[in-house]
Amino acid sequence: MTSKPTIHRFPREHEGAFVNAYLVETESSVVAVDSLLTVSESRALRAGVQRLGKPLQAVLLTHSHPDHYGGLTELVAGDDVPIIAPQGVIDIIARDDEAKEQILRPMFGDEWAAERTFPNAPIRDGESVTIDDATFTVIDLGPSESAHDSPWVFGQDERTVFLGDQIYGRKHCYLADGFHEDWLRNIQTLSERFPDDTVFHIGHGGPATPADWDWQRRYIETFLDAVEAADWSNREQANAEVATAMKRFLPTDELSFLMELSIEPVAQQLGLLSHGH
Ligand SMILES: [Zn+2]
Repeated sequence: MTSKPTIHRFPREHEGAFVNAYLVETESSVVAVDSLLTVSESRALRAGVQRLGKPLQAVLLTHSHPDHYGGLTELVAGDDVPIIAPQGVIDIIARDDEAKEQILRPMFGDEWAAERTFPNAPIRDGESVTIDDATFTVIDLGPSESAHDSPWVFGQDERTVFLGDQIYGRKHCYLADGFHEDWLRNIQTLSERFPDDTVFHIGHGGPATPADWDWQRRYIETFLDAVEAADWSNREQANAEVATAMKRFLPTDELSFLMELSIEPVAQQLGLLSHGH
């Protein structure tokens, strides 16, 4: 008799958690999905593996952002574990890590790992990883919420998905990478792919359901409208206007700094800053 794989979410205190990672416990092994950002939280994730008393057989990454790969060093703890992602995710992490170091070191100090570990095992779109009776199939999305995204479908029935940040669980969102058009297109495609009873394990908050695709689309559209509508002759005021509009749409401060970091990059991208005020 085999037991069904169990999904454990981290950090164990979900309330107010900045970012999620998951441990999938199979008959004889553990598979991690993402690795959190900070040294302490990723160390606690590793302790979660130890507590299960089974070897970590693989780590799967959902996209190229540092809050999902920054904890890899503590998670694998020197073990020779395949860290699996599409080549595009691997390349973006290698390309951007030094820039992330410049941003995150002042914010997080020693909680941003001194030595980062990168994914080391490329996988192609539609290929699967099977550990015991658990099968994970990657969707190589390309640019979406980050510069390269790779949700994982769990199981053969396609009812459970590790979605990464394609849907945020009613928290403010990061759009600064500038791929909102791809993101909106992917929302359309993914929303048509999965049935109504699918459970999405996501990077921030959740779990989410297919009904949340609509919320995510509206969040992005509301943000774009707010950036367009702001008076960019006064940058400071324009930033405040967009932040106010978004907090009207979503009255919470949770992850609002990610949204605030996105305002000027998107204004730049939309050509609203081109007159050099
Ligand atoms: Zn994230």
